[in-house]
Formats: sequence, C-alpha cells, structure tokens
Amino acid sequence: MKILFIGDGQLGQMLGASATSHGHECLLFSTRTYTVKPLSAQLDLSLTLTQAINWADVVSWEHEDIPADIVAAARTKFLMDPERIQRLTDRREEKSLFDECGVATSPWQQFSQTTELEQILTQAQQPLVIKSARGGYDGKGQWRYTMASDPHQLAQQAGQAPGIVEQLIPFQREVSLVGARSKDGSICCYPLVTNVHERGILSYTLAGMDFITDELQQQAETSFRKLTDALHYVGVLAIEFFVVGEGADAQLLVNEIAPRVHNSGHWTMTGANSSQFDLHIRALTGMPLPLLRLEPTLMLNVIGAEQIPDALWHHPDTACFWYNKEPRPGRKVGHVNIATESRATALTWVAQWASQLQVLAD
Ligand code: ATP
Ligand code: MG
Repeated sequence: MKILFIGDGQLGQMLGASATSHGHECLLFSTRTYTVKPLSAQLDLSLTLTQAINWADVVSWEHEDIPADIVAAARTKFLMDPERIQRLTDRREEKSLFDECGVATSPWQQFSQTTELEQILTQAQQPLVIKSARGGYDGKGQWRYTMASDPHQLAQQAGQAPGIVEQLIPFQREVSLVGARSKDGSICCYPLVTNVHERGILSYTLAGMDFITDELQQQAETSFRKLTDALHYVGVLAIEFFVVGEGADAQLLVNEIAPRVHNSGHWTMTGANSSQFDLHIRALTGMPLPLLRLEPTLMLNVIGAEQIPDALWHHPDTACFWYNKEPRPGRKVGHVNIATESRATALTWVAQWASQLQVLAD
C-alpha cells in the first residue's frame, strides 16, 4: 500500500521505517514547511499536498494537530473521522470525552478568560494544575496553584488563553498503556509501563519489570476499549494514567490520551516482537494484530544533549536512536533502549546516564 503520514518528525520517520519494512511505500508531509518529503532524507519533493494525497491509498499522522485544510483535502483517505481526533487537541474536549465514556479522571473545570480563572483559584481549597486548552506538550502551558500562590497574579499569567483547572493528584506513580485497535474492533495492548517525568517531560520508561497487577491491566484495557470504541479509532493510541492508592486498592485516573504512537512506547522497538509502529501499520493496512512477545526494557530519553556517548552505542545491552534534530535544552533528540532484567538494574542505568543524556529547560 501507499501511505502518506502527516508530520515528518521522529515519529513520522519511525512509522515510515516500519511501513517500508512491511513492504509498503510511504511519504511524509511536513506541517511546518508544507512540503512533501521522502523517508530519511532532508529533501523537499516537487509534489503538492494534493498530488501526495492522490498518490496515497491511506493517510495517517504522527501528531494529532492536523491543520483543517489537510483534513479537508485528505478526507476520503483517512480510515476514521479525523474530526474526532482533532477534538482531542483541546483539553476541554479531551476531558469531556473521558466523562462521556465514564473513564475516571482528575476532577476539572474549564475557564475561558482571566477573571473566570481568578475566581476559580480564589475559591480553591487544594492545590491545582492549570493547563491551557491548546498547544501544550512536555509540560509546557501548565502552571501549579498552591495555597501560597497569588490568584490574581497567576490568573494574569495562566489565563490569557482558555484552559482547564484540575486537581493536583498525589499519585503513587505514572503509567501508560499503548495499544492498537483495528477497523474490525479487535485490540492489542502492551502491558502498562511506568513513566518517570522530570519537569513535565518524560525522562524514562520501565517496561516489563514493574509489578503490574492483572487488575490494573484490566482497568487500563477497559478504558482503552471505551475510548477507542467511542472514537471509532483505527491505529495505535496511548493513554497516560496516574496510579492512586496502593496494592489491591490501586486505581487508575486517566491524565491524557495521545491518538498516535507515543514516546512511552519506544521501548517496543527492541523490547517486543512487534513495535508500536508495526502495530500501527498493521492496523492501517488491515493485517491481523500480533500475539506479543516482550522483553523487560528501560527506555531512557535523550533530551537536549549534543550526542549519545560512544560507550552507549557500543554496549551489547543497548540500542541507541538519534533523531538528527538540533539539540536544545528540553528537546527530545533521541532515546536509548536498554535490555535489563530488574528495576534495580534499570535504576542503576538511570543514575549513571540520565544526567549526561538529559539537559532540561529551566
Ligand atoms: P505530554 O508531553 O505527555 O503530552 P503534557 O505537557 O501535554 O505532556 P500532561 O501529561 O498533562 O501534559 O502533564 C505533564 C506531567 O505533569 C504529567 O506527566 C504529570 O507528571 C504532571 N501532571 C499533569 N497533571 C497533573 C495533575 N492533575 N496532578 C499531578 N500531576 C500532574
Ligand atoms: Mg502527558
């Protein structure tokens, strides 16, 4: 098949690599330069968007913020209604979807202007997180409200654009579920993985070495089923959760969903017989979803660093991925997958390498 991906960042590149390894052809469309690109070359092809869409059998995306003109032009080539997906680029709509589906999430309220936000903050009885409705990622567009904050000052800062206010959740840890749904409604999910964030950006993921009860996995897959059914979703989707409570009382609260392949699924590039990118391509092209075989893996993000040290490129237990992006503090420029049996060993790797691999923004 011929697949056109909207977006030419690292996720688009990885999707493209998987597509070609399955015998498909692919092109990428950059929503920054509005040009058509081949896979793995920094070249603009002399094809228009319309020509690329006509060439493609199917159009998919690496990010959900798809400009309206592209949605209109590619309408017949998407496997699902892209407007349902675009809805998710607004946190008010995303939280409403959780409520509509009966999926537990942190209590929230929306605001559309500074005065409304100030009023909510003035009445607050507990710490809150303010998130702008649109455009936030990697912790950007977020503010914390504590009892020590000045509601007026914070509202001036955080209330310039519409957004939501939600309770700050004292979670035990953060986990995510990455899975795929086919057109026929069958689903295939990886086990829940643990994610550790630094300053709002994913630092590392522990896969297959944390104790995930059947009960938690079941809760997560039930949410996946409800949300993807409601969206009539086809392809890979990730759900980020907070785990609240301990042991048998542990519960999941959905934080957000990403209707696409996700950074917390990068461990599957070496830790699974079928990666999250393969799953997406299978779902798009109507191939059956696979039976998964998995290996415990640590995924350590490379953030803002100039390079990945040689010692990691040469180590027999590692696989390094460099995205060929200009490094700057807080920008994801690569990741390293490390085969490791235990959480303790994984944390030793993190302690040894995270400070060299991660330069965070202030
Ligand atoms: P992403 O890059 O994953 O899309 P994001 O910037 O869009 O992230 P969130 O995932 O909502 O936004 O928030 C980033 C991080 O901030 C979360 O992973 C979590 O650590 C923290 N956080 C967000 N909301 C809350 C909350 N309600 N309570 C506690 N921590 C929170
Ligand atoms: Mg997030």
